[in-house]
This record gives sequence, structure tokens and C-alpha cells, in this order.
Amino acid sequence: MTSAEELTLPEALFKTIDHFAPGFWAALAEVKDPRNPLRIGYPLHQELLVAVLMSMVKVDSRRNIKYKLGTPIFVANMLAILKRLYPKNVFAETMFHGDTLNYALKGVDPREIRGLCTLVIRSLLRKRCLDDFRLKGLYYPVAVDGTGALVFRDKHCDHCLRKTSNGQTIYYHPVVEAKLVLRNGLALSVGTEFPENEYPDVKKQDCELKAFYRLAKTLKKDFPQTRLCLLLDGLFACAPVVKLCEHNRWAYIITLKEGSLPAVFQDYEALLMLTPENVRVVECKGCRRTYRWINDVDFGDRTANVFECLEETAEGTKHFVWLTGFRVDDKNVEELSERGGRQRWKIENEGFNAQKNGGYGLEHAFSENNVALKNFYLLMQIGHIFNQLMEKGSLLRERIRVTMGSLKVFSQRLWAVMTETVIDEARLLAILETRIQIRFEAG
Ligand SMILES: [Zn+2]
Repeated sequence: MTSAEELTLPEALFKTIDHFAPGFWAALAEVKDPRNPLRIGYPLHQELLVAVLMSMVKVDSRRNIKYKLGTPIFVANMLAILKRLYPKNVFAETMFHGDTLNYALKGVDPREIRGLCTLVIRSLLRKRCLDDFRLKGLYYPVAVDGTGALVFRDKHCDHCLRKTSNGQTIYYHPVVEAKLVLRNGLALSVGTEFPENEYPDVKKQDCELKAFYRLAKTLKKDFPQTRLCLLLDGLFACAPVVKLCEHNRWAYIITLKEGSLPAVFQDYEALLMLTPENVRVVECKGCRRTYRWINDVDFGDRTANVFECLEETAEGTKHFVWLTGFRVDDKNVEELSERGGRQRWKIENEGFNAQKNGGYGLEHAFSENNVALKNFYLLMQIGHIFNQLMEKGSLLRERIRVTMGSLKVFSQRLWAVMTETVIDEARLLAILETRIQIRFEAG
């Protein structure tokens, strides 16, 4: 049997998917195809698999599918893999045009593609491979945040949000995401909501907070028994959000800014003066962190707990304050800060920035159609999850770190291998049938 170091990148890729989400292939073939069966040139799962690979190897536009993935070797490799995965199906022996994929994605219900993503996450949770990353040994940290995905100068569709400043109106499609953010750097999409207006001249536009409530509903439905700890920014520091978390039995750590919840803030500061013993100082490598906390601060018709971290280094100081349902004490304050509240920024860095600037094309309009846009976005989440599983999994972690340095280079190499080297089918089959343990480093 081939050792992990000798696996080619496509072999490692299909082994990784098979290992972490064995049900993915069957689910991919189950996605409902709304097209007229008489006019289908390419089975939907063939198109969807290419679309996931497209974001993994970072094909940055619909048009480039033909040019970057249309090589005879890539097409032959695709067919070999599809034949192995779906021996009873017949597939087209050419690469489709980007417009063909766009046409198919216009009709697919985005909830089905979101469902594929959810299946991968559920599978990871069920395999218990993320257990070591839980907060207080129990709660999976999930950051929720919005980001601007697409901006247009002219009205793009009937559902665009609009914003006018200095007489100039822009039309945009943001997205609100929930991502599992783990301290080894994984940022995995567990929920997506698209803020959008019902019709063009709607008086009260949709917004991030409204989208959050919809997202929470889906998150609870998709992961009913999973203990989550929501990491939220100041926008969500309000009683209804806390109430919702309590109702769903989710823990929460919400950033408190001076302006948000001023009464809670003042109460906290006054009580802190009376409780100087609630302090913990940790010093290491030129960094000094001072933690303080107060439990049972009045917060509307309930109480909540507040804690803070003041970090001093040669570069300057940083100060964070959070609101939480966890009772804070000398023993857990450091964990709640370093492994909880401060992990929130990862949705921005490892999540949004990676997808905007790492070649995935988060800000690229892959379609003019609103439904297809959502599906392109969700397929990108699946591609990004698979790439991260390879980057952080023990199968390729060292190789990517030492010989490629980044996922960007990894994607280029994967593309080069898949377009230039014929996959050895018998070898791939043997590898898929061999048990290989893939682990994550807890960090
Ligand atoms: Zn639009």
C-alpha cells in the first residue's frame, strides 16, 4: 500500500472526502434537477462535482471553466472518478460551458446545496474529529457575521439591498454566515443566510439582524442536539438575541462595545471597582494579559456575566469586553477569552478574507441570476471546507506547510496535476479501500 507521503494530490483529495464525509457522493447525486430530462446534456451531479472542484482549484470565472478544466486529461480524470463513484450512471465525455452550469444552478433550490454542506459538517461532528476544539470541553464555537459579497452600480435584480450616500445609490447582496471557528485555524461554514428585499421598493429593507434570526432557526433545525457557543459582535448585543440563545440552549459570548448596552457597561464598571479581587494576570513572551470579570450584571429582565481582557505588548494594547451566559471565574476566564471570544475574528480572517483574496472569488458575480448566485456561493463553501480539511488534516498538513506554504499554491498544484496527469484508476480504488486515519492537530 502507498504511504501517505506518496499519495498524489487528487488521491489525497478523494481519500479526504471519503474519510470525513463518506455520504457526500450519494447526497450529491440526490440533488433535485429541475431541468427537462429530455434536454439535459450533463447529469446534475457531474456539473456539481466540477463546480466544487472549480472553487477548490480556484477557477475565478464561469467562462474559465472551459479553458482551465476543459483539457482532455482533466475530462478523462473526471470521467474515471465519476465512473468509480457512480458505476451505474452515464456521463458526458466533454467539459460543459460555464453557461450550462449557470443554467442548471438557476433552477436548483439553494437549500439543497446548503444541505450538502450541512451533511459534511454533521459527518465531521459524528466522527468526533472536532471534539478537542470544544469550549469548556462541551461547546463548539460558532462565529456569526455578515460580509458584503457583491456590489453593483446598477440595479442587479428585484431583490438587491440598496444604500444611498452622497446622492449615489449602490445595490448589493451581502451574506450572513455562521462558521465553526476552531483554534487550529479551521473556519467551516455551518449556516448561510442571504439578506435580500422581497420586492424592489420595499420600505423597510432586510438587514443583517433580521437575517440572523432566520439563520438561527435553520441552525437549530440542522444541528438540533449539538451544543454550540455563538460568538457574536456588538451588533448582536441585545436582549432578544440573548433570549434566543437561551431558548435554543446555546451558549454565547458577545462583544460589548462602549456604546452598546451602556447601562450594562456602567454597571459592570461600577461593580468592578467594588470587586478588585476578580482579576487574573497572565504573562508570557513579552505579553501581559489582565482578565477581569463580574457575574450577575443586570441586563433587562435577566442577568448576564461580563468579562474583559486587556492585552499589553510592545506593539500596544488591545482591550476586549464580552457579555456571556457562562459563569466566569479565576479558572475559566482565560479559556473563555482566548478560546472563546477572541476566536471570533477567524470568521473574518480565515473565512471571508480567504474567500475574497485567496482566489475563491467571493466578490465575483458568477451569475446575473439571484438563485444561481446563491448556489455558486454555497458550492464555494463546500470547496473551501474540503481544501481546509486537506490543509489541516494529517494526510497532507506537513506537505502543504513545507513544500507549498499555502492553500493558494496547493490549489495551483492540484489543478496542474489534475489537468496534466492521468489518474491511475486501480491505484485510486486501492487507496480508497484502505483504512487511513486522518487527524487534526488540536493546537
Ligand atoms: Zn440583485
